[in-house]
Amino acid sequence: MTYLTELKQSGDFLSITRANEFSLEPVSFTLDNGTLVEVHDTGVIQFTPNITTTKDIVLSSAVHGNETAPIEICDELIQQIILGKLTLAQRVLFIFGNPKSINIGQRFVDENLNRLFNGAHNNETDNPEKVRAQNLEAYVRNFFEQAEGDRYRCHYDLHTAIRGSKNEKFAVYPFLHGKPWKKSQLQFLLSCGVNTVLMMRSAATTFSYFSSYQFGADAFTIELGQVKPFGQNNMASFAKTKATLTALISQESVEYKDFNASDFELFTVHRTINRTQEAFSFPFSDSAVNFTGFSKGELLATDGDTEYFAEVEGEAIIFPNANVALGQRALLTVVPLEVDENFI
Ligand SMILES: [Zn+2]
Repeated sequence: MTYLTELKQSGDFLSITRANEFSLEPVSFTLDNGTLVEVHDTGVIQFTPNITTTKDIVLSSAVHGNETAPIEICDELIQQIILGKLTLAQRVLFIFGNPKSINIGQRFVDENLNRLFNGAHNNETDNPEKVRAQNLEAYVRNFFEQAEGDRYRCHYDLHTAIRGSKNEKFAVYPFLHGKPWKKSQLQFLLSCGVNTVLMMRSAATTFSYFSSYQFGADAFTIELGQVKPFGQNNMASFAKTKATLTALISQESVEYKDFNASDFELFTVHRTINRTQEAFSFPFSDSAVNFTGFSKGELLATDGDTEYFAEVEGEAIIFPNANVALGQRALLTVVPLEVDENFI
């Protein structure tokens, strides 16, 4: 096996992944501490400690290839595990989502991978992202379903945002179809340095929604800051995230700070504005940050002849992108949410 020796010696699964953009022959081996290492594909590596575990944890990054900070965090964790510097207490599946897009330094190659999950790939094979989405769904399914018994499942899909944000780090809580939101997950996020959480109100085609909906996993899309090239991230600003993830995978259980609603800024989706016309624009500048609020009646977007105005005082913008394909989401707007009986 050509890369096995290199992987054992360096632990550098990221470089091996980047050298094999579309596929990698599976291998498995056992570390000195008994942990089973299984490479399923390029960018997909699973660790199973040789002890009784209770949690199945998926950590994904590079679903958007130019979002480097989470890739660097996961790369370091994988190296520490393979080199025996970090001993796992739980099963973990690491995924580098889109290796070719890492190499070209772009969000994606042909199509936004994070719009292709939960079956949205339609089993089509006309571009590499659709093929990758199908394969990643299968790896996650196998990972969760091959462990027997009553186990805890989670999936943290790590990103950085294109724009800055008024709240630098934030998480997206996928639609739970009426199930309560978990305060314990908010406490985990706070420990990662994330105090802003956006509760979705509808089904989605994101990786985190897939794991939440299909497997009941506590799953989030976590935005850790702004996109930067490799080597230009201020890793100090990710220290809390890395420490919290390290504790999650290497400890039997983790204690978080007591829940206090005032620690958080929670929002819920108000509406989605799609681009339906070639002539689509925002009245705000390219530097407008996520969670910028608008006064009721202020212009939010112009789509051909249709103008969208803020309907609620404080309606805030998220993920504005005027350059999406026709028919896709150009803007999400959100309004503040209080902690109530819908949280457990
Ligand atoms: Zn992203």
